[in-house]
Amino acid sequence: MNSLHLKSFTRCKRKAWLDFKGKKSYEVWSPHKAIDKINQFQIFSEFCNGEIYTGLKACENGYQGVIGLKIKGNLFQNINAEIRPQLLVKTKGKSKWGQYKYLPAVYKLGHKTTKEHLFDLAFSSMLLESFQESKIEKGLIISNFGGKVNVEEIYLNKKLRKKVLNVLLSLNACLEGFMPEITQDRKKCTICSWQNFCDKEAKENGYLTDIDGIGSKTASLLITNGISDTQSLASYSEKKLGDKLSKLNYQMYEKASLFVKQAQAYISEEPHRIINKNDTNDLLKKICSGFFIFDIESNPDNKHEFLYGFLKINNLSIKKEDHIYKPLLNLKNNKQESYRKIIEILSSEKQWPVLHYGETEKIAIINIAKNLNFSHEEIDLLASRFIDLHTLIRKSWILPLKNYGLKTVSNWLGFEWMQKNVSGSKALYWWIQYQITENEIFLKKIIQYNKDDCLATLQIAEYLIKNQLKKN
Ligand code: SF4
Repeated sequence: MNSLHLKSFTRCKRKAWLDFKGKKSYEVWSPHKAIDKINQFQIFSEFCNGEIYTGLKACENGYQGVIGLKIKGNLFQNINAEIRPQLLVKTKGKSKWGQYKYLPAVYKLGHKTTKEHLFDLAFSSMLLESFQESKIEKGLIISNFGGKVNVEEIYLNKKLRKKVLNVLLSLNACLEGFMPEITQDRKKCTICSWQNFCDKEAKENGYLTDIDGIGSKTASLLITNGISDTQSLASYSEKKLGDKLSKLNYQMYEKASLFVKQAQAYISEEPHRIINKNDTNDLLKKICSGFFIFDIESNPDNKHEFLYGFLKINNLSIKKEDHIYKPLLNLKNNKQESYRKIIEILSSEKQWPVLHYGETEKIAIINIAKNLNFSHEEIDLLASRFIDLHTLIRKSWILPLKNYGLKTVSNWLGFEWMQKNVSGSKALYWWIQYQITENEIFLKKIIQYNKDDCLATLQIAEYLIKNQLKKN
């Protein structure tokens, strides 16, 4: 077992097992991991003033920062382990290399220090101590929240070390045993490289957490009420379930009916129309003389929107290849210029609504308008043109899907992205690559991806309009 298994284990036992024993062909490359590595290297490099080198030689030479070192050792009871410290930082002391020693350091994204960071440091220190022949009292957590390098010192006391030893023992037992169950908290799966593999199994076994809106708590509530899988949920009486659940939580009554309908749709693979106040009729009226589709690519970690994409639709009967697409890059040094261009596009057709998927785009436009000192009335008028298709589709349809994300819904409608295995995270990965290399190929990929996002949104709008009169 190694540091990476420990990191996975603290998130999901099954992930640690799959990382160790799983068939690699089932694993999908994760842009999150790659982005994390790049960020990590940049901040470590800044922290060590660029004096960062790789491997054992770097320790012997006493460089300030050392990465890429793997140290094997024996933990206890003949358990072989390997640490892969993210960074070793030179400090005062005495070690086998001379009048200095190294402390382990880890990278942290955001504010929160988690078990993952603490365990990694404690585990690293255990093998590093005997390797460098010097005691380690503390480890460092390095982050760059708010645009500056922050360092937190963590004392690796007896209690923490003991805790980690116990976790390592459980990890060892897990890796030697059978594959653990899928995690109850399926939110963890969204950025996991084994997601496709686990999703397939969850669907085959009728996992309740496959149903939109059902998290681990609701799933265990249903199980204690005798509903153990999607099949039994789909055939359960809505009223009976409502009665049962509302005894525990009064807000659950209405949800019960949704859960049952969602399970029915999921199993039958048929969508279910929710009759409401003609939301989609209204959509048709609003867009009949033309509309924009708007989609943003952003880096949520540093709150930077790097691409604004507009698709101009004069008429729905025009072939999709003929719609005009306009991408606007938002380089950090010409923010105002991008904002001005966005408003110019939106003002070119003042009456047109702006369709988007999810709340991000509307929030971004309001912020841009505030930044440009628009009056309250102007901001309200602009915001009133925005129509969120994600909200609209959820209000009018129950789809036979696990979630209502843009990719899931438009894939179900038959839309295909030009580039395979793409996602917002992959676009962010390309953006980071572009900033490092200035290679235009990455920009082209991002723009193609954003254009496809706009076209996918268009496909959902067409579905809503085409099926607006359907009743279930
Ligand atoms: S997809 Fe989910 S259950 Fe499967 S290994 Fe990853 S986190 Fe665990």
